[in-house]
Amino acid sequence: MHSGCRMALSRGLRCCQRVFSWVPVVIISSVVLWSYYAYVWELCLVTVENALEKAVYLLVFHIVFLLFIWTYWKAIFTPPKEPTKKFLLPYAEKERYDSEERPEVQRQILAEFAKKLPVYTRTGSGAIRFCDRCQVVKPDRCHHCSVCGMCVLKMDHHCPWVNNCIGFSNYKFFLLFLAYAMLYCAYIAATVFQYFLLYWTAELPNNRAKFHVLFLLFVSLMFFISLMFLFGYHCWLVGLNRTTLEAFSAPVFPSGPDKNGFHLGIRRNLEQVFGKRKKLWIIPVFTSIGDGLSFPMRMVSESHNPLLGGNQWDDEGTDDESPGARTLGLLH
Ligand SMILES: [Zn+2]
Ligand SMILES: [Zn+2]
Repeated sequence: MHSGCRMALSRGLRCCQRVFSWVPVVIISSVVLWSYYAYVWELCLVTVENALEKAVYLLVFHIVFLLFIWTYWKAIFTPPKEPTKKFLLPYAEKERYDSEERPEVQRQILAEFAKKLPVYTRTGSGAIRFCDRCQVVKPDRCHHCSVCGMCVLKMDHHCPWVNNCIGFSNYKFFLLFLAYAMLYCAYIAATVFQYFLLYWTAELPNNRAKFHVLFLLFVSLMFFISLMFLFGYHCWLVGLNRTTLEAFSAPVFPSGPDKNGFHLGIRRNLEQVFGKRKKLWIIPVFTSIGDGLSFPMRMVSESHNPLLGGNQWDDEGTDDESPGARTLGLLH
């Protein structure tokens, strides 16, 4: 095939892929829009008769709805962060690296360059972690996402439901999105339930609103239960300061692989993601600690890790991931 033709074809395919990757977001947004219509119009304005009840339902609903939409928006549109220029292999080193055929010398070139960088984790064989595609030395907890085609700082996973890579820049938003989505579903289910019973026992007329109200309950309960598992899994991860990727394969330190290598104790783990000011924990503004390039570690001496303050030896947790959590991770 003509090379120009091939290029046009691959460009077309990439374009198709980009369009299709928005399908899950469109599906979720459609369900949310329908739920807004069904709740506000069919339940509150058509079904509920008491004016005070109507007003309270609508007020609380709109507060929860806005928080949910705000966090969903932030999870979708906060771009993942990539390593800074200082992690990029300089031209001279790159030339040497590319022209070298002996892997041990290539390793040496990377090791020399990485001496200036705050990287502590290694590959399984003990080499510096290097991304061939981005030509960067990967900072600790950074991974290359093949969907985004870039290295993502503290990569957690690529989430199709927000069509974005979840990592250092947006992990807090993702967690809040799960939490507010659960609250949204729970609020709808709790307020719809009594009308569901009234329709079911035929105390209310059989009309169009009935079907919307019935579906509201089923859909909100279904989403609530699925979100509960996913949110529970991520709470467990945050408590141990692990990413989803690290839960599947432990980061390798100079001393060997250690799933708890970044575990600093529950309070400090929470602060790593949500920041020190508790008032801002539930607000979708960026408050995570650090720059995403290096992280305090549990089992390194202060001389190696200037980021770490005192009690680096606390919390000798050795729990491994449960098979249940593994399955949940796969669900997402
Ligand atoms: Zn990369
Ligand atoms: Zn990605």
